[in-house]
Amino acid sequence: MRPRIVVVGSSNTDMIIRLDHIPRPGETILGGEFLTAAGGKGANQAVGAARAGGDVTFVARVGRDVFGDQAIEGFRRDGIRVKAVFRDPKRPSGVALIFVARDGENSIAVASGANSALRPGDVLRARAAFLSADVVLTQLETPLKTVSEAVKLARRAGVLTILNPAPARSLPDRLLEDISILTPNESEAEFLSGIKVRDECSASKAARKLRQRGVKTVILTLGARGALVCSSDGEMLVPGYKVKAVDTTAAGDIFNGALAVNLGEGEQLVDAVRFANAAAAISVTRLGAQPSAPQRKEIEAFLKDH
Ligand code: ADP
Repeated sequence: MRPRIVVVGSSNTDMIIRLDHIPRPGETILGGEFLTAAGGKGANQAVGAARAGGDVTFVARVGRDVFGDQAIEGFRRDGIRVKAVFRDPKRPSGVALIFVARDGENSIAVASGANSALRPGDVLRARAAFLSADVVLTQLETPLKTVSEAVKLARRAGVLTILNPAPARSLPDRLLEDISILTPNESEAEFLSGIKVRDECSASKAARKLRQRGVKTVILTLGARGALVCSSDGEMLVPGYKVKAVDTTAAGDIFNGALAVNLGEGEQLVDAVRFANAAAAISVTRLGAQPSAPQRKEIEAFLKDH
């Protein structure tokens, strides 16, 4: 039986132009190369979880436009349940306009559109999925009151909750107390704890501070170094895998999706973090966000080889 994962979060269409340099105000540059890619942290994590072996229900809002159609088509291709991907009658689908210069510098503007209208009521409409879920996974690209409703509903149903606090924003202690697992990266941990994260020692201080604020378990991701697990059982660094990284976009999203699936399967925390490190390591060897998410078979083969 595949674990049932409910992901609540954002869906965006990334529109990328690669060009020589980023246009200055008033400047027009010809000769760029255009591509579109499905993105948004919620959607990335839903796809990551589905490919890692989860039976995924995605709770989100897109517009009644061609981008919304394409996003839903993509979710269906990955076997994601889309009954709770609602179409907003007034707002367009979320869009990110991204310039990438030849030297790798980028400049990004996001219009959240329908994502900003994902409401607590949408979570309640998807109630049945929460009640039968193994894990609920959410992030912070949709309104905080919606995230709080999802966490509250999951908690009442006795379902494990993972909050990936990205992008960083201040969180009330009441929300932190309701979460089973918080998965910040270094800068998010620093933002939430007030402790500068530079190495394993400061990461451990930040994680402990977050536990003092009421989070039961903190998994602080440390890029190529892996992830620090801090729970009532103690602390442990689960090392990352050595790979040739070409694009680390969405590494954290793939990590969270895979983590949710393996925990939903009943794996122990440290083993699930190892599984998530492997999925994320594969993803950084590939270009793009959702295209880089590995399939279950690939993760298993990678773990066997490493
Ligand atoms: P985010 O993408 O949210 O900033 P991190 O950079 O901490 O988060 O990466 C999340 C996870 O992705 C890490 O815990 C690790 O498992 C994996 N990862 C990221 N970068 C690399 C890398 N260069 N090599 C191997 N694994 C990586």
